Amino acid sequence: MYNNVQLFIDGVWRDSLSGQTIAVINPATEEKIGHVASARKEDLDLAVAAAAKGFKIWRKFSPLDRSKIMRTAADLLRQRIDRIAQLMTLEQGKPLAEARIELLASADVLDWCAEESRRTYGRVIPARSAGVYNLVVKEPVGPVAAFTPWNFPVSQAVRKLAAALSAGCSVIIKPPEETPASPAELIRALADAGLPAGVVNLVYGVPSEISEYLIAHPVIRKISFTGSTPVGKKLASLAGTHMKRITMELGGHAPAIVFGDADVKVAATVLAAGKYRNAGQVCIAPTRFIVHESVYDHFVEEFVGRTTALKMGNGLHDGVTIGPLANDRRQNALGSFLDDAVQRGAKIKAGGKRQQNKGYFFEPTVLVDVPKDARALNEEPFGPLALVSSFKDFDDALSEANRLPFGLAAYAYTRSVKNATAVAAEIESGMISINHQGLAFPEVPFGGVKDSGYGSEGGMEAVEAYLIGKFVSQGSPAD
Ligand code: NAD
Repeated sequence: MYNNVQLFIDGVWRDSLSGQTIAVINPATEEKIGHVASARKEDLDLAVAAAAKGFKIWRKFSPLDRSKIMRTAADLLRQRIDRIAQLMTLEQGKPLAEARIELLASADVLDWCAEESRRTYGRVIPARSAGVYNLVVKEPVGPVAAFTPWNFPVSQAVRKLAAALSAGCSVIIKPPEETPASPAELIRALADAGLPAGVVNLVYGVPSEISEYLIAHPVIRKISFTGSTPVGKKLASLAGTHMKRITMELGGHAPAIVFGDADVKVAATVLAAGKYRNAGQVCIAPTRFIVHESVYDHFVEEFVGRTTALKMGNGLHDGVTIGPLANDRRQNALGSFLDDAVQRGAKIKAGGKRQQNKGYFFEPTVLVDVPKDARALNEEPFGPLALVSSFKDFDDALSEANRLPFGLAAYAYTRSVKNATAVAAEIESGMISINHQGLAFPEVPFGGVKDSGYGSEGGMEAVEAYLIGKFVSQGSPAD
């Protein structure tokens, strides 16, 4: 059922020159299901040479021709959805239905960026003399090195690839070694759609070896990373040393403020869906539930009801609504967040157990009375852990929401326009969704502030990140 995964360099699928591989584990069973080729420096040199060649070719493609290939790739993803969704669930653990949604959303990102390619307008600036044209011409920044994580193996990769390709850049992408087969199928769709050799190159290996080599390499002109804040800071400082442009989409710890005038049932339903999607391994997942004291008990009851209604199991099985965590690191991390919070006085209202037999399972868990110094209320849990606390007035809620160095997503529920306007103005986050789930669509910006990184991976900003504005001032030659 599972493909062993090769590198894709200069239009050719192949093993690494050293023959080294890394095992791939199914997180629902802990069985080894295959392996992925592991690139070393000599493979990376080939990838860099291919990306340099690919850039020369691709930047000359008209936006219309680029967009045709990207849209064909989107259609291929949709046609191949059954097979790729299976691969994703096998390697990542999420329920099959979620894997399918991710793939459809990824095809949408390709379509959106394909169309944006045709709107990479420059501008004309009125000149000081007759016969002079002052032009700002949008050009692709150059070959890109992209690093993507295991929580959304295809959609994290497509956000970078589609934007870079639409701008005319070539890419070396390193998706996660833990979930390599589904992103490899995205690359296959692009290649089968007619992308010229060298435009996209796929490598796997030791993440630090690859990033250190590629970020420093003079051919690479732009770095894009999605992952944890500590790794993002390391890569950003390396990129700074080598004067490379960067996009950093890092961790979050999203506050969800439920005001006293909110529709509590709607808030609990939508927020629980957001919390437990992908077993909580989502950078924009609501995590700190800050609930007005007048509706606190009602909210906790509703939220716990939705938590205990989830069916945990192997994502390939019918009826399963929450799969295992993606790897043993997350299982250990969640266990330690939970133990720490309980030791400090937090109460478990739902869940709280790891599954004892095989698989990296962790029950969806609701904690109340969590003291502010609990690790889970300060570090990103990145798992199915909901932390509920109460507030008295607007200022209390905002100061708790803005307390952490993270600033990616935030949520609020209220019937008051005054509250909605004030929370939108005062929240320190890159995105806020009020009274519904409205984040992460291809056409809207996606990105954070503070320690959650910078740059955007959605909307017109996504493509802009891969463009430079070259200024051309052209006068008329003297006769
Ligand atoms: P990690 O910090 O070791 O790795 C995070 C990601 O970065 C992984 O995909 C990994 O392969 C990659 N990575 C690690 N070191 C790298 C390096 N030197 N160069 C290039 N890439 C490197 O943590 P982890 O255990 O894999 O994931 C857990 C944490 O990562 C979570 O707590 C969460 O904060 C964060 N995370 C965030 C997102 C997101 O969508 N923003 C996605 C996945 C993980």
